[in-house]
Amino acid sequence: MTLYCATQNQGKLAEFRLAAERYAPAAGAMVETVPDLARIPAPEETGSTFHENARLKALYYARFAPGPVFADDSGLAVDALDGQPGVHSARFAGPSATDAENNALLIERLRGARDRSARFVCVIALAAGGEIAATFEGSIAGRILDAPRGSGGFGYDPYFFYPPFGCTLAEATAAQKLSVSHRGQALMHLFRFVAGWTAPSVP
Ligand code: IMP
Repeated sequence: MTLYCATQNQGKLAEFRLAAERYAPAAGAMVETVPDLARIPAPEETGSTFHENARLKALYYARFAPGPVFADDSGLAVDALDGQPGVHSARFAGPSATDAENNALLIERLRGARDRSARFVCVIALAAGGEIAATFEGSIAGRILDAPRGSGGFGYDPYFFYPPFGCTLAEATAAQKLSVSHRGQALMHLFRFVAGWTAPSVP
């Protein structure tokens, strides 16, 4: 079975590819990107939860693919900020904010905060036959540092300290990050599901 992944985020795509290499063969699956993805306008993320946005994205991109499509909605929930930036993580500092701008705003908002606890959350939705077949979740708890460390990963990774590793997710290797991350967990659940699944035919 070929699964199509839908993301315009290069950081997520690299993690999807690594997970596909690791987990897809045992599930009897292959992963490709939705054809001509770069030319498809991104849908507006109007949901107020990761679930709503993941479902919305998977259903939207499934219209452009000849088979089942999965999409991820994810973000950082910071306790001292009442769960922000949450579903607004990609556009925390503005509609076309860069990772650097989002990180700068995060550190600014956390200035003086004693509670630095946070978690990344990921929901993956799998769409097939015009419906959502299933959703999969993962989360990882850590702490937000004041200064960045490491050059791997993407987004908020350089500021996200993961105590069991004793380093930030940007200092971990891609394989280490995938083995514990919110996205890694959701992807593992996805491939376990796919292993015992017969996709409905595309209408
Ligand atoms: P989405 O594309 O609307 O799901 O936004 C996801 C945003 O959450 C990304 O642009 C990052 O800012 C943040 N994010 C999600 N997952 C990660 C991660 O694994 N590392 C760092 N930042 C992440």
